[in-house]
Amino acid sequence: MSKQSICAWQKLELGAAIRDPGNASALKTGDWRTLVPVLDEEKCIKCTLCAIYCPEFCISEREDGLFRPDLNYCKGCGICANECPKSAISMVMEDK
Ligand code: SF4
Ligand code: SF4
Repeated sequence: MSKQSICAWQKLELGAAIRDPGNASALKTGDWRTLVPVLDEEKCIKCTLCAIYCPEFCISEREDGLFRPDLNYCKGCGICANECPKSAISMVMEDK
């Protein structure tokens, strides 16, 4: 395997160990994503459940009052889509 084909997640320490305390924000887990959450703004009732359940804590309220993820950290797990009571989030294949 050439060095160019090695993805960021393959450069993690064994067991994803953090060697430098406090460096979590430097780990852009968005590099791991293959599916991306897409919000249907018409369906969203702004209940905040997606933000509460997101394991990366990357979903926050934006200026328009809707909740969207920071794609630098969204790893595409789909938990937000699974927990949304209005099925307002769809997971779609992302072109990178
Ligand atoms: S869980 Fe669904 S309805 Fe609730 S804020 Fe998130 S996207 Fe909107
Ligand atoms: S897909 Fe996973 S990591 Fe991304 S916003 Fe939804 S719950 Fe968070």
